[in-house]
Amino acid sequence: MNEQVDFEAQRASMVDYQIVARGISSPLVIEAMRRVPRERFVTPRMIDCAYEDGPLPIGAGQTISQPYIVALMAEALGLEGGERILDIGTGSGYAAAVLACIASRVFSIERIPELAERAAHTLAAEGYDNVEVRCGDGTLGWQEHAPFDGICVAAGAPTIPETLKQQLAIGGHLVIPVGSEHSVQSLRRVVRVSETEFHSDNFGGVRFVPLLGEEGWS
Ligand code: SAH
Repeated sequence: MNEQVDFEAQRASMVDYQIVARGISSPLVIEAMRRVPRERFVTPRMIDCAYEDGPLPIGAGQTISQPYIVALMAEALGLEGGERILDIGTGSGYAAAVLACIASRVFSIERIPELAERAAHTLAAEGYDNVEVRCGDGTLGWQEHAPFDGICVAAGAPTIPETLKQQLAIGGHLVIPVGSEHSVQSLRRVVRVSETEFHSDNFGGVRFVPLLGEEGWS
């Protein structure tokens, strides 16, 4: 069988069984998950596992998130298309690519230089020209491009970074795992209702690598 056809079939069944069957219902998110070739974002050694139902190692002790978690976070952002998104913890660049299928621009920050470089390269090679990747501490956000309609944090924080809340547009959504460093965190969503008012809800237990930085873990 042609390799390309095989990955397309695997991707289609990943979306049916891991995403739609578990209750993700946003048509924009489902379509984005159908489009992004996850096999291009994993390391060559992991390519046969690209559509498995879990995270995978990407080097530097980090992981590409489970597809379902990427979809859950994208849905929690409440995207309708055309937004400006801040993505923290670029990792492989896979989640940034999913968000870039829906949003108009994605600004993505990764603290590990080799991962930031590799992700920027993969995203450019795959034609995601609305994503900008920068190496740095994402807990401080990206002030020059703020405010954001959505902020997606793919690493677990001790508390919700105040700077990120302040970089949300009114009506914007921040999705972030919060909890202890090496165990289960809860996936929280914060909506900025007004200049000073924020509402928060909880999407249940998740497990992420720690968010390291000035407003994260030391
Ligand atoms: N979204 C990624 C998964 C990333 S895993 C993907 O789709 O592949 C979490 C990433 O967050 C790791 O690469 C880690 O290095 C990064 N990270 C941790 N703390 C960070 C910080 N303060 N700023 C930016 N990136 C951070």
